[in-house]
Amino acid sequence: MYRTYTCGELRKEHIGTSVTLAGWAQKNRDKGGRLWIDLRDRYGLTQLMFGEGVTKEELLEEARKIGREFVLQAEGIVIERESKNPNIPTGDIEIHVDRLTILNKSEVPPFLIEDETDGGEELRMQYRYLDLRRTPVRKNLQLRHRLLQATRSYLDSEEFIEVETPYLIKSTPEGARDFVVPSRMNAGQFYALPQSPQTFKQLLMVAGFDKYFQVVRCFRDEDLRADRQPEFTQIDCEMAFVNQEDVLQVFEGFAKHVYKELKGIDLEQFPRMTYDDAIRLYGSDKPDLRFGMEFKEINDLTQSNGFVVFDSAELVVGINASGCAEYTRKQLDSLTDFVRKPQIGAKGLIYLKCNVDGTFKSSVDKFFSQEDLKTWAERFDAEPGDLLLILAGETDKTRKALNELRLEMGDQLNLRTEKEGEPIKVAPLWVLDFPLLEWDEETKRYHAMHHPFTSPKSEDIDKMETDPGAVRANAYDLVINGVEAGGGSIRIHDSKLQARMFKLLGFTEEEAKAQFGFLMEAFEYGAPPHGGIALGFDRLCAILSGQESIRDFIAFPKNNRGRDVMINSPSIISTDQLNELGLSLK
Ligand code: ASP
Repeated sequence: MYRTYTCGELRKEHIGTSVTLAGWAQKNRDKGGRLWIDLRDRYGLTQLMFGEGVTKEELLEEARKIGREFVLQAEGIVIERESKNPNIPTGDIEIHVDRLTILNKSEVPPFLIEDETDGGEELRMQYRYLDLRRTPVRKNLQLRHRLLQATRSYLDSEEFIEVETPYLIKSTPEGARDFVVPSRMNAGQFYALPQSPQTFKQLLMVAGFDKYFQVVRCFRDEDLRADRQPEFTQIDCEMAFVNQEDVLQVFEGFAKHVYKELKGIDLEQFPRMTYDDAIRLYGSDKPDLRFGMEFKEINDLTQSNGFVVFDSAELVVGINASGCAEYTRKQLDSLTDFVRKPQIGAKGLIYLKCNVDGTFKSSVDKFFSQEDLKTWAERFDAEPGDLLLILAGETDKTRKALNELRLEMGDQLNLRTEKEGEPIKVAPLWVLDFPLLEWDEETKRYHAMHHPFTSPKSEDIDKMETDPGAVRANAYDLVINGVEAGGGSIRIHDSKLQARMFKLLGFTEEEAKAQFGFLMEAFEYGAPPHGGIALGFDRLCAILSGQESIRDFIAFPKNNRGRDVMINSPSIISTDQLNELGLSLK
Protein backbone atom coordinates (compact mmCIF):
# COMPACT_ATOMS: atom_id res chain seq x y z
CA MET A 1 0.00 0.00 0.00
CA TYR A 2 1.41 3.38 -0.96
CA ARG A 3 -0.48 5.17 1.76
CA THR A 4 -2.70 4.40 4.70
CA TYR A 5 -4.12 7.92 5.00
CA THR A 6 -4.36 11.00 2.78
CA CYS A 7 -2.68 14.29 3.63
CA GLY A 8 -5.99 15.85 4.63
CA GLU A 9 -7.20 13.22 7.01
CA LEU A 10 -5.25 13.04 10.25
CA ARG A 11 -6.61 14.63 13.41
CA LYS A 12 -5.98 14.62 17.16
CA GLU A 13 -7.69 11.26 17.54
CA HIS A 14 -5.02 9.67 15.36
CA ILE A 15 -2.22 10.59 17.78
CA GLY A 16 -0.03 7.55 18.38
CA THR A 17 -1.08 5.83 15.15
CA SER A 18 1.55 4.63 12.79
CA VAL A 19 0.78 5.90 9.27
CA THR A 20 2.09 6.03 5.71
CA LEU A 21 1.42 9.12 3.59
CA ALA A 22 2.32 9.98 0.01
CA GLY A 23 2.33 13.32 -1.76
CA TRP A 24 4.35 16.30 -2.93
CA ALA A 25 6.81 18.29 -0.82
CA GLN A 26 5.37 21.79 -0.80
CA LYS A 27 7.72 23.58 1.56
CA ASN A 28 10.72 22.87 3.83
CA ARG A 29 11.61 24.66 7.02
CA ASP A 30 15.09 23.83 8.23
CA LYS A 31 15.86 24.95 11.77
CA GLY A 32 19.22 23.18 12.03
CA GLY A 33 18.42 20.35 14.41
CA ARG A 34 14.90 19.95 13.10
CA LEU A 35 13.31 20.07 9.71
CA TRP A 36 9.67 20.21 8.63
CA ILE A 37 8.18 19.40 5.27
CA ASP A 38 4.60 20.19 4.27
CA LEU A 39 3.38 17.17 2.37
CA ARG A 40 0.52 17.91 -0.02
CA ASP A 41 -1.98 15.85 -1.94
CA ARG A 42 -5.41 16.71 -3.30
CA TYR A 43 -6.95 16.26 0.16
CA GLY A 44 -4.76 18.65 2.10
CA LEU A 45 -1.45 19.26 3.79
CA THR A 46 0.23 17.33 6.57
CA GLN A 47 3.38 18.41 8.32
CA LEU A 48 6.25 15.92 8.42
CA MET A 49 8.92 16.32 11.08
CA PHE A 50 12.49 15.10 10.99
CA GLY A 51 15.00 15.80 13.69
CA GLU A 52 17.02 15.11 16.74
CA GLY A 53 15.50 12.64 19.09
CA VAL A 54 12.82 11.85 16.54
CA THR A 55 14.48 10.43 13.48
CA LYS A 56 17.84 8.98 12.72
CA GLU A 57 20.61 11.38 11.80
CA GLU A 58 20.84 9.92 8.25
CA LEU A 59 17.16 10.53 7.73
CA LEU A 60 17.53 14.19 8.64
CA GLU A 61 20.34 14.44 6.10
CA GLU A 62 18.18 12.70 3.51
CA ALA A 63 15.27 15.06 4.22
CA ARG A 64 17.56 18.06 3.69
CA LYS A 65 18.03 17.00 0.07
CA ILE A 66 14.35 17.12 -0.68
CA GLY A 67 13.37 19.92 -3.00
CA ARG A 68 10.06 21.50 -3.84
CA GLU A 69 7.57 19.15 -5.48
CA PHE A 70 9.55 15.96 -4.86
CA VAL A 71 7.15 13.03 -4.62
CA LEU A 72 7.51 11.34 -1.25
CA GLN A 73 6.29 8.45 0.75
CA ALA A 74 6.68 8.88 4.50
CA GLU A 75 6.08 6.45 7.31
CA GLY A 76 5.89 7.51 10.91
CA ILE A 77 3.86 8.17 14.04
CA VAL A 78 1.18 10.84 14.45
CA ILE A 79 2.23 13.24 17.23
CA GLU A 80 0.49 16.28 18.73
CA ARG A 81 2.13 19.45 17.45
CA GLU A 82 3.81 21.86 19.78
CA SER A 83 2.68 24.91 17.86
CA LYS A 84 -0.68 24.20 16.27
CA ASN A 85 -1.94 25.69 13.00
CA PRO A 86 -5.64 26.52 13.34
CA ASN A 87 -5.86 27.41 9.63
CA ILE A 88 -5.67 23.84 8.36
CA PRO A 89 -7.73 20.80 9.42
CA THR A 90 -4.59 18.75 10.12
CA GLY A 91 -3.02 21.60 12.08
CA ASP A 92 -3.10 19.81 15.45
CA ILE A 93 -0.72 17.03 14.47
CA GLU A 94 2.49 16.23 12.68
CA ILE A 95 4.21 13.03 11.63
CA HIS A 96 7.49 12.05 13.22
CA VAL A 97 8.97 10.28 10.25
CA ASP A 98 11.03 7.13 10.57
CA ARG A 99 11.08 6.01 6.94
CA LEU A 100 11.21 8.16 3.88
CA THR A 101 11.14 7.11 0.23
CA ILE A 102 11.66 9.53 -2.60
CA LEU A 103 9.23 8.25 -5.24
CA ASN A 104 10.34 10.86 -7.73
CA LYS A 105 12.40 14.01 -7.93
CA SER A 106 11.24 17.30 -9.38
CA GLU A 107 12.82 20.16 -11.20
CA VAL A 108 12.45 23.44 -9.35
CA PRO A 109 8.94 24.53 -10.38
CA PRO A 110 8.77 27.78 -12.39
CA PHE A 111 6.39 29.37 -9.89
CA LEU A 112 5.28 28.88 -6.30
CA ILE A 113 2.78 26.07 -5.94
CA GLU A 114 0.89 27.62 -3.07
CA ASP A 115 -2.46 29.39 -2.66
CA GLU A 116 -0.82 32.70 -3.54
CA THR A 117 1.57 32.22 -6.41
CA ASP A 118 4.17 34.43 -8.03
CA GLY A 119 3.43 32.92 -11.46
CA GLY A 120 1.97 35.13 -14.18
CA GLU A 121 -1.03 33.97 -16.21
CA GLU A 122 0.98 32.84 -19.25
CA LEU A 123 3.48 30.85 -17.19
CA ARG A 124 0.73 29.21 -15.19
CA MET A 125 -1.00 28.22 -18.44
CA GLN A 126 2.20 26.80 -19.88
CA TYR A 127 2.63 24.61 -16.80
CA ARG A 128 -1.05 24.11 -16.20
CA TYR A 129 -0.48 20.70 -14.58
CA LEU A 130 1.53 22.50 -11.88
CA ASP A 131 -1.04 25.27 -11.56
CA LEU A 132 -3.70 22.60 -11.08
CA ARG A 133 -1.79 21.37 -8.02
CA ARG A 134 -2.64 24.68 -6.32
CA THR A 135 -5.57 24.42 -3.92
CA PRO A 136 -7.64 27.37 -5.25
CA VAL A 137 -7.51 26.05 -8.82
CA ARG A 138 -8.23 22.50 -7.72
CA LYS A 139 -11.18 23.74 -5.67
CA ASN A 140 -12.61 25.41 -8.76
CA LEU A 141 -12.53 22.11 -10.59
CA GLN A 142 -14.03 20.33 -7.62
CA LEU A 143 -16.90 22.81 -7.71
CA ARG A 144 -17.26 22.12 -11.41
CA HIS A 145 -17.46 18.42 -10.66
CA ARG A 146 -20.14 18.98 -8.04
CA LEU A 147 -22.14 21.20 -10.37
CA LEU A 148 -21.96 18.46 -12.98
CA GLN A 149 -23.30 15.89 -10.49
CA ALA A 150 -26.05 18.25 -9.27
CA THR A 151 -27.04 18.99 -12.88
CA ARG A 152 -27.32 15.34 -13.81
CA SER A 153 -29.22 14.38 -10.69
CA TYR A 154 -31.70 17.26 -11.04
CA LEU A 155 -32.38 16.73 -14.72
CA ASP A 156 -32.56 12.96 -14.29
CA SER A 157 -35.12 13.43 -11.50
CA GLU A 158 -37.13 15.60 -13.91
CA GLU A 159 -37.04 12.72 -16.42
CA PHE A 160 -34.64 14.28 -18.89
CA ILE A 161 -32.69 11.81 -21.02
CA GLU A 162 -29.02 12.50 -21.69
CA VAL A 163 -28.25 12.02 -25.38
CA GLU A 164 -24.95 12.69 -27.12
CA THR A 165 -25.05 14.45 -30.46
CA PRO A 166 -22.20 14.51 -33.00
CA TYR A 167 -19.28 16.93 -32.99
CA LEU A 168 -18.55 16.61 -36.68
CA ILE A 169 -21.55 18.31 -38.20
CA LYS A 170 -22.34 21.04 -40.62
CA SER A 171 -22.54 24.63 -39.72
CA THR A 172 -25.38 25.86 -37.46
CA PRO A 173 -25.99 29.56 -37.74
CA GLU A 174 -25.80 30.84 -34.16
CA GLY A 175 -24.18 34.07 -35.09
CA ALA A 176 -20.52 33.18 -34.57
CA ARG A 177 -17.97 31.79 -36.98
CA ASP A 178 -17.60 28.03 -37.21
CA PHE A 179 -14.48 26.01 -36.61
CA VAL A 180 -14.18 23.68 -39.55
CA VAL A 181 -12.55 20.29 -39.98
CA PRO A 182 -11.43 19.12 -43.41
CA SER A 183 -12.69 15.72 -44.50
CA ARG A 184 -10.04 13.39 -45.91
CA MET A 185 -12.54 11.01 -47.43
CA ASN A 186 -14.48 13.83 -49.04
CA ALA A 187 -11.71 15.98 -50.38
CA GLY A 188 -12.53 19.67 -50.53
CA GLN A 189 -15.40 19.27 -48.07
CA PHE A 190 -15.53 20.26 -44.44
CA TYR A 191 -17.31 19.41 -41.27
CA ALA A 192 -18.09 22.17 -38.85
CA LEU A 193 -17.82 21.79 -35.09
CA PRO A 194 -21.15 22.60 -33.44
CA GLN A 195 -21.72 26.07 -32.04
CA SER A 196 -24.45 24.23 -30.16
CA PRO A 197 -26.45 21.04 -30.80
CA GLN A 198 -29.47 23.22 -31.65
CA THR A 199 -30.83 21.39 -34.69
CA PHE A 200 -30.06 17.94 -33.27
CA LYS A 201 -31.95 18.59 -30.08
CA GLN A 202 -34.93 19.77 -32.11
CA LEU A 203 -34.74 16.58 -34.15
CA LEU A 204 -34.74 14.61 -30.89
CA MET A 205 -38.06 16.27 -30.09
CA VAL A 206 -39.42 15.21 -33.47
CA ALA A 207 -38.11 11.77 -32.52
CA GLY A 208 -40.30 11.82 -29.42
CA PHE A 209 -37.59 12.08 -26.74
CA ASP A 210 -39.69 14.69 -25.03
CA LYS A 211 -37.05 15.86 -22.52
CA TYR A 212 -33.41 15.88 -23.57
CA PHE A 213 -30.26 17.20 -22.00
CA GLN A 214 -26.57 17.03 -22.64
CA VAL A 215 -23.55 18.55 -20.97
CA VAL A 216 -21.88 19.35 -24.22
CA ARG A 217 -18.83 21.06 -25.64
CA CYS A 218 -19.60 23.88 -28.08
CA PHE A 219 -17.21 25.65 -30.41
CA ARG A 220 -17.33 29.26 -31.55
CA ASP A 221 -14.61 31.04 -33.43
CA GLU A 222 -15.02 34.45 -31.80
CA ASP A 223 -12.67 37.06 -30.49
CA LEU A 224 -11.99 36.12 -26.92
CA ARG A 225 -12.59 37.91 -23.66
CA ALA A 226 -12.22 36.89 -20.04
CA ASP A 227 -15.59 35.17 -20.06
CA ARG A 228 -15.25 33.50 -23.47
CA GLN A 229 -13.35 30.46 -24.69
CA PRO A 230 -13.31 29.01 -28.21
CA GLU A 231 -14.56 25.76 -26.75
CA PHE A 232 -16.88 25.90 -23.81
CA THR A 233 -19.47 23.70 -22.16
CA GLN A 234 -23.22 24.11 -22.13
CA ILE A 235 -25.98 22.36 -20.26
CA ASP A 236 -28.13 21.98 -23.32
CA CYS A 237 -31.81 21.08 -22.92
CA GLU A 238 -34.94 20.70 -24.97
CA MET A 239 -38.52 19.79 -24.08
CA ALA A 240 -41.59 18.90 -26.15
CA PHE A 241 -45.22 19.85 -25.44
CA VAL A 242 -44.20 22.86 -23.43
CA ASN A 243 -44.77 26.57 -23.47
CA GLN A 244 -42.40 29.23 -22.22
CA GLU A 245 -43.75 29.04 -18.68
CA ASP A 246 -42.99 25.30 -18.43
CA VAL A 247 -39.37 25.82 -19.47
CA LEU A 248 -38.92 28.73 -17.04
CA GLN A 249 -40.33 26.66 -14.17
CA VAL A 250 -38.04 23.69 -14.75
CA PHE A 251 -34.91 25.81 -15.09
CA GLU A 252 -35.70 28.16 -12.27
CA GLY A 253 -36.02 24.95 -10.27
CA PHE A 254 -32.65 23.88 -11.60
CA ALA A 255 -30.92 27.12 -10.59
CA LYS A 256 -32.48 26.95 -7.12
CA HIS A 257 -31.38 23.33 -6.80
CA VAL A 258 -27.74 24.05 -7.60
CA TYR A 259 -27.55 27.11 -5.32
CA LYS A 260 -28.98 25.02 -2.51
CA GLU A 261 -26.74 22.01 -3.19
CA LEU A 262 -23.51 23.87 -3.76
CA LYS A 263 -23.90 27.02 -1.72
CA GLY A 264 -26.60 26.18 0.82
CA ILE A 265 -28.59 29.18 -0.40
CA ASP A 266 -32.38 29.20 -0.75
CA LEU A 267 -33.36 31.49 -3.61
CA GLU A 268 -36.76 33.14 -3.76
CA GLN A 269 -38.89 33.29 -6.89
CA PHE A 270 -36.91 34.94 -9.70
CA PRO A 271 -38.14 38.35 -10.84
CA ARG A 272 -39.01 38.74 -14.51
CA MET A 273 -38.49 41.69 -16.76
CA THR A 274 -39.21 42.28 -20.42
CA TYR A 275 -36.30 43.01 -22.69
CA ASP A 276 -37.72 46.49 -23.34
CA ASP A 277 -37.85 47.27 -19.63
CA ALA A 278 -34.36 45.94 -19.04
CA ILE A 279 -33.03 48.23 -21.75
CA ARG A 280 -35.07 51.22 -20.58
CA LEU A 281 -34.31 50.81 -16.87
CA TYR A 282 -30.75 49.48 -16.98
CA GLY A 283 -29.49 49.98 -20.52
CA SER A 284 -28.65 46.28 -20.72
CA ASP A 285 -30.37 42.98 -21.42
CA LYS A 286 -28.43 41.51 -18.51
CA PRO A 287 -28.92 43.94 -15.66
CA ASP A 288 -27.03 43.37 -12.44
CA LEU A 289 -29.82 43.52 -9.87
CA ARG A 290 -27.55 43.19 -6.86
CA PHE A 291 -28.14 46.93 -6.60
CA GLY A 292 -30.79 49.43 -7.69
CA MET A 293 -29.74 52.68 -9.37
CA GLU A 294 -32.50 52.39 -11.95
CA PHE A 295 -32.42 54.81 -14.88
CA LYS A 296 -34.78 57.81 -14.79
CA GLU A 297 -35.59 59.69 -17.97
CA ILE A 298 -35.88 63.45 -17.65
CA ASN A 299 -36.42 64.79 -21.17
CA ASP A 300 -39.62 66.50 -20.03
CA LEU A 301 -37.84 68.28 -17.17
CA THR A 302 -34.74 69.37 -19.01
CA GLN A 303 -35.56 70.31 -22.55
CA SER A 304 -36.31 73.80 -23.89
CA ASN A 305 -34.31 75.60 -21.22
CA GLY A 306 -31.74 76.76 -23.72
CA PHE A 307 -29.15 74.12 -22.88
CA VAL A 308 -28.34 72.83 -26.32
CA VAL A 309 -26.88 69.47 -25.21
CA PHE A 310 -30.22 68.54 -23.66
CA ASP A 311 -32.37 70.27 -26.26
CA SER A 312 -30.76 68.37 -29.13
CA ALA A 313 -30.73 65.02 -27.32
CA GLU A 314 -33.05 62.18 -28.13
CA LEU A 315 -32.75 61.01 -24.53
CA VAL A 316 -31.77 62.66 -21.25
CA VAL A 317 -31.35 59.96 -18.64
CA GLY A 318 -29.55 59.48 -15.36
CA ILE A 319 -28.92 57.52 -12.20
CA ASN A 320 -28.88 58.41 -8.54
CA ALA A 321 -25.59 57.62 -6.85
CA SER A 322 -26.92 57.65 -3.37
CA GLY A 323 -24.77 59.37 -0.74
CA CYS A 324 -22.22 60.71 -3.22
CA ALA A 325 -22.97 64.45 -3.08
CA GLU A 326 -19.60 64.97 -1.44
CA TYR A 327 -17.74 63.75 -4.53
CA THR A 328 -14.83 66.10 -5.22
CA ARG A 329 -14.09 67.92 -8.45
CA LYS A 330 -11.41 65.32 -9.08
CA GLN A 331 -13.77 62.40 -8.60
CA LEU A 332 -16.34 63.97 -10.91
CA ASP A 333 -13.67 64.67 -13.52
CA SER A 334 -12.58 61.08 -13.41
CA LEU A 335 -16.19 59.94 -13.93
CA THR A 336 -16.38 62.31 -16.92
CA ASP A 337 -13.17 60.80 -18.28
CA PHE A 338 -14.68 57.37 -17.74
CA VAL A 339 -17.81 58.06 -19.81
CA ARG A 340 -15.74 59.76 -22.49
CA LYS A 341 -13.55 56.71 -23.07
CA PRO A 342 -14.03 55.61 -26.67
CA GLN A 343 -15.46 52.24 -25.63
CA ILE A 344 -18.11 54.05 -23.52
CA GLY A 345 -18.64 56.82 -26.01
CA ALA A 346 -20.51 59.58 -24.14
CA LYS A 347 -19.61 63.18 -24.93
CA GLY A 348 -19.82 64.40 -21.37
CA LEU A 349 -21.38 63.97 -17.97
CA ILE A 350 -23.77 66.31 -16.20
CA TYR A 351 -24.08 66.10 -12.45
CA LEU A 352 -26.47 67.38 -9.84
CA LYS A 353 -25.40 67.40 -6.23
CA CYS A 354 -28.26 67.33 -3.74
CA ASN A 355 -26.46 69.07 -0.92
CA VAL A 356 -27.17 68.13 2.67
CA ASP A 357 -28.37 71.69 3.34
CA GLY A 358 -31.19 71.19 0.81
CA THR A 359 -29.63 73.30 -1.96
CA PHE A 360 -28.64 71.98 -5.37
CA LYS A 361 -25.42 72.35 -7.28
CA SER A 362 -25.17 71.21 -10.85
CA SER A 363 -22.76 71.49 -13.71
CA VAL A 364 -25.49 73.31 -15.68
CA ASP A 365 -26.54 75.90 -13.07
CA LYS A 366 -26.45 78.55 -15.78
CA PHE A 367 -29.51 77.07 -17.44
CA PHE A 368 -31.54 75.71 -14.56
CA SER A 369 -32.94 77.33 -11.43
CA GLN A 370 -32.96 75.70 -8.00
CA GLU A 371 -36.67 75.03 -8.63
CA ASP A 372 -35.88 73.23 -11.90
CA LEU A 373 -33.19 71.16 -10.24
CA LYS A 374 -35.58 70.23 -7.46
CA THR A 375 -37.91 68.61 -10.01
CA TRP A 376 -35.03 66.46 -11.20
CA ALA A 377 -34.22 65.40 -7.67
CA GLU A 378 -37.85 64.43 -7.16
CA ARG A 379 -37.86 62.28 -10.29
CA PHE A 380 -34.91 60.34 -8.86
CA ASP A 381 -36.35 60.16 -5.33
CA ALA A 382 -33.10 61.81 -4.33
CA GLU A 383 -32.37 62.68 -0.72
CA PRO A 384 -30.01 65.35 0.52
CA GLY A 385 -26.53 63.88 0.13
CA ASP A 386 -27.27 62.15 -3.19
CA LEU A 387 -25.57 62.73 -6.51
CA LEU A 388 -27.36 62.50 -9.86
CA LEU A 389 -25.28 61.54 -12.88
CA ILE A 390 -26.89 62.41 -16.20
CA LEU A 391 -26.09 61.60 -19.82
CA ALA A 392 -27.75 62.91 -22.95
CA GLY A 393 -27.69 61.95 -26.60
CA GLU A 394 -28.93 59.35 -29.01
CA THR A 395 -31.15 56.81 -27.20
CA ASP A 396 -29.33 53.49 -27.70
CA LYS A 397 -25.84 54.88 -27.25
CA THR A 398 -26.79 56.90 -24.19
CA ARG A 399 -28.41 53.92 -22.52
CA LYS A 400 -25.38 51.77 -23.21
CA ALA A 401 -23.03 54.39 -21.80
CA LEU A 402 -25.19 54.88 -18.71
CA ASN A 403 -25.20 51.11 -18.18
CA GLU A 404 -21.40 51.23 -18.01
CA LEU A 405 -21.49 54.18 -15.65
CA ARG A 406 -24.04 52.43 -13.43
CA LEU A 407 -21.82 49.35 -13.19
CA GLU A 408 -18.78 51.53 -12.50
CA MET A 409 -20.64 53.29 -9.68
CA GLY A 410 -21.80 49.89 -8.41
CA ASP A 411 -18.14 48.87 -8.23
CA GLN A 412 -16.96 52.12 -6.68
CA LEU A 413 -19.63 51.90 -4.00
CA ASN A 414 -19.02 48.15 -3.42
CA LEU A 415 -22.60 47.33 -4.30
CA ARG A 416 -21.64 44.39 -6.52
CA THR A 417 -19.78 42.45 -3.87
CA GLU A 418 -20.46 41.55 -0.31
CA LYS A 419 -18.55 42.81 2.69
CA GLU A 420 -16.46 40.36 4.72
CA GLY A 421 -18.71 38.01 6.61
CA GLU A 422 -21.88 39.01 4.74
CA PRO A 423 -23.83 36.31 2.87
CA ILE A 424 -23.12 36.27 -0.88
CA LYS A 425 -25.43 38.36 -3.02
CA VAL A 426 -27.37 36.46 -5.65
CA ALA A 427 -29.64 38.40 -7.96
CA PRO A 428 -31.21 36.17 -10.61
CA LEU A 429 -33.86 37.27 -13.09
CA TRP A 430 -35.55 36.17 -16.27
CA VAL A 431 -35.42 38.58 -19.18
CA LEU A 432 -38.35 37.88 -21.50
CA ASP A 433 -39.81 38.97 -24.83
CA PHE A 434 -36.62 39.56 -26.76
CA PRO A 435 -37.04 41.00 -30.22
CA LEU A 436 -37.08 38.29 -32.88
CA LEU A 437 -34.70 40.18 -35.14
CA GLU A 438 -31.84 42.57 -34.93
CA TRP A 439 -30.94 45.02 -37.69
CA ASP A 440 -27.35 44.85 -38.84
CA GLU A 441 -26.18 48.19 -40.21
CA GLU A 442 -23.16 46.68 -41.91
CA THR A 443 -24.92 44.07 -44.00
CA LYS A 444 -28.22 46.03 -44.09
CA ARG A 445 -30.05 42.89 -43.11
CA TYR A 446 -31.99 41.46 -40.23
CA HIS A 447 -30.31 38.79 -38.14
CA ALA A 448 -32.04 36.44 -35.76
CA MET A 449 -31.42 37.86 -32.31
CA HIS A 450 -31.38 34.40 -30.74
CA HIS A 451 -31.24 31.97 -33.67
CA PRO A 452 -33.39 31.30 -36.74
CA PHE A 453 -35.41 28.55 -35.04
CA THR A 454 -36.89 30.82 -32.39
CA SER A 455 -40.60 31.30 -32.65
CA PRO A 456 -42.17 34.74 -32.92
CA LYS A 457 -44.90 35.54 -30.40
CA SER A 458 -48.18 34.39 -31.94
CA GLU A 459 -49.69 37.87 -31.57
CA ASP A 460 -46.79 39.38 -33.55
CA ILE A 461 -46.67 36.88 -36.43
CA ASP A 462 -48.74 39.21 -38.62
CA LYS A 463 -46.01 41.85 -38.41
CA MET A 464 -43.25 39.56 -39.68
CA GLU A 465 -43.28 41.00 -43.17
CA THR A 466 -44.75 44.46 -42.52
CA ASP A 467 -42.84 45.52 -39.42
CA PRO A 468 -40.18 42.88 -38.75
CA GLY A 469 -38.28 45.00 -36.22
CA ALA A 470 -41.32 45.10 -33.92
CA VAL A 471 -41.83 41.35 -33.74
CA ARG A 472 -41.12 39.89 -30.33
CA ALA A 473 -39.93 36.34 -29.79
CA ASN A 474 -40.75 33.65 -27.28
CA ALA A 475 -37.16 33.93 -26.13
CA TYR A 476 -35.78 34.23 -22.63
CA ASP A 477 -32.48 34.64 -20.83
CA LEU A 478 -31.54 33.68 -17.32
CA VAL A 479 -29.38 36.43 -15.88
CA ILE A 480 -27.54 36.12 -12.57
CA ASN A 481 -25.58 39.00 -11.06
CA GLY A 482 -25.40 40.80 -14.39
CA VAL A 483 -24.13 37.79 -16.31
CA GLU A 484 -26.08 35.85 -18.91
CA ALA A 485 -26.20 32.39 -17.38
CA GLY A 486 -28.26 30.97 -20.22
CA GLY A 487 -30.88 31.52 -22.82
CA GLY A 488 -33.42 29.72 -24.89
CA SER A 489 -36.68 29.94 -26.71
CA ILE A 490 -39.83 28.23 -27.84
CA ARG A 491 -39.11 27.01 -31.37
CA ILE A 492 -40.89 27.16 -34.63
CA HIS A 493 -42.28 23.68 -35.32
CA ASP A 494 -44.17 24.47 -38.49
CA SER A 495 -42.21 24.18 -41.72
CA LYS A 496 -44.14 27.03 -43.39
CA LEU A 497 -43.42 29.45 -40.57
CA GLN A 498 -39.80 28.31 -40.56
CA ALA A 499 -39.64 29.03 -44.29
CA ARG A 500 -41.03 32.54 -43.68
CA MET A 501 -38.38 33.09 -41.05
CA PHE A 502 -35.55 32.03 -43.36
CA LYS A 503 -36.92 34.37 -46.00
CA LEU A 504 -36.94 37.23 -43.53
CA LEU A 505 -33.30 36.51 -42.78
CA GLY A 506 -32.47 36.87 -46.44
CA PHE A 507 -32.14 33.20 -47.41
CA THR A 508 -33.39 32.22 -50.84
CA GLU A 509 -35.54 29.11 -50.91
CA GLU A 510 -32.62 27.13 -52.35
CA GLU A 511 -30.19 28.34 -49.71
CA ALA A 512 -32.61 27.49 -46.92
CA LYS A 513 -33.16 24.07 -48.41
CA ALA A 514 -29.45 23.39 -48.87
CA GLN A 515 -28.65 24.35 -45.29
CA PHE A 516 -31.73 23.31 -43.35
CA GLY A 517 -33.64 21.02 -45.67
CA PHE A 518 -33.25 18.18 -43.15
CA LEU A 519 -34.97 20.19 -40.42
CA MET A 520 -37.78 21.48 -42.62
CA GLU A 521 -38.36 17.96 -43.84
CA ALA A 522 -38.44 16.63 -40.28
CA PHE A 523 -41.11 19.20 -39.49
CA GLU A 524 -43.27 17.52 -42.14
CA TYR A 525 -43.36 14.31 -40.09
CA GLY A 526 -45.26 15.35 -37.01
CA ALA A 527 -43.05 17.79 -35.12
CA PRO A 528 -44.42 18.48 -31.64
CA PRO A 529 -44.41 21.99 -30.18
CA HIS A 530 -41.11 22.32 -28.38
CA GLY A 531 -38.65 24.68 -26.73
CA GLY A 532 -35.55 24.66 -24.63
CA ILE A 533 -32.63 26.44 -23.15
CA ALA A 534 -28.87 26.20 -22.84
CA LEU A 535 -26.95 27.30 -19.78
CA GLY A 536 -23.27 28.17 -19.92
CA PHE A 537 -21.68 25.54 -17.70
CA ASP A 538 -18.26 27.15 -17.24
CA ARG A 539 -19.95 30.46 -16.65
CA LEU A 540 -22.30 29.00 -14.09
CA CYS A 541 -19.25 27.70 -12.20
CA ALA A 542 -17.75 31.19 -12.23
CA ILE A 543 -21.04 32.85 -11.19
CA LEU A 544 -21.50 30.38 -8.34
CA SER A 545 -18.00 31.24 -7.12
CA GLY A 546 -18.42 34.99 -7.56
CA GLN A 547 -15.61 35.14 -10.13
CA GLU A 548 -15.50 36.78 -13.52
CA SER A 549 -13.16 34.64 -15.55
CA ILE A 550 -14.33 31.22 -16.70
CA ARG A 551 -10.75 30.21 -17.44
CA ASP A 552 -9.97 28.98 -13.97
CA PHE A 553 -12.93 26.63 -14.08
CA ILE A 554 -11.62 24.85 -17.17
CA ALA A 555 -8.87 22.30 -16.63
CA PHE A 556 -6.95 23.16 -19.79
CA PRO A 557 -8.15 26.51 -21.16
CA LYS A 558 -6.90 28.58 -24.07
CA ASN A 559 -5.41 32.04 -23.77
CA ASN A 560 -7.01 35.11 -25.31
CA ARG A 561 -5.36 34.48 -28.64
CA GLY A 562 -7.10 31.11 -28.72
CA ARG A 563 -3.86 29.24 -28.04
CA ASP A 564 -3.14 26.37 -25.75
CA VAL A 565 0.34 27.47 -24.69
CA MET A 566 1.03 24.17 -22.93
CA ILE A 567 0.71 21.90 -25.96
CA ASN A 568 1.43 24.82 -28.30
CA SER A 569 -1.67 24.61 -30.42
CA PRO A 570 -2.82 25.53 -33.01
CA SER A 571 0.26 24.48 -34.96
CA ILE A 572 1.22 23.78 -38.52
CA ILE A 573 0.78 20.30 -39.94
CA SER A 574 3.02 18.42 -42.31
CA THR A 575 2.80 18.67 -46.09
CA ASP A 576 1.86 15.00 -46.15
CA GLN A 577 -1.10 15.65 -43.89
CA LEU A 578 -2.12 18.63 -45.99
CA ASN A 579 -1.88 16.61 -49.17
CA GLU A 580 -3.92 13.82 -47.70
CA LEU A 581 -6.62 16.34 -46.90
CA GLY A 582 -6.47 17.86 -50.35
CA LEU A 583 -5.34 21.14 -48.80
CA SER A 584 -1.83 21.49 -50.21
CA LEU A 585 -0.63 25.05 -50.19
CA LYS A 586 0.33 25.83 -53.77
N1 ASP B 1 -28.71 26.84 -28.83
C1 ASP B 1 -28.93 28.03 -28.06
C2 ASP B 1 -27.59 28.63 -27.65
O1 ASP B 1 -26.58 27.98 -27.69
C3 ASP B 1 -29.72 27.79 -26.83
C4 ASP B 1 -31.13 27.39 -27.08
O2 ASP B 1 -31.84 28.08 -27.80
O3 ASP B 1 -31.53 26.38 -26.48
O4 ASP B 1 -27.56 29.77 -27.23
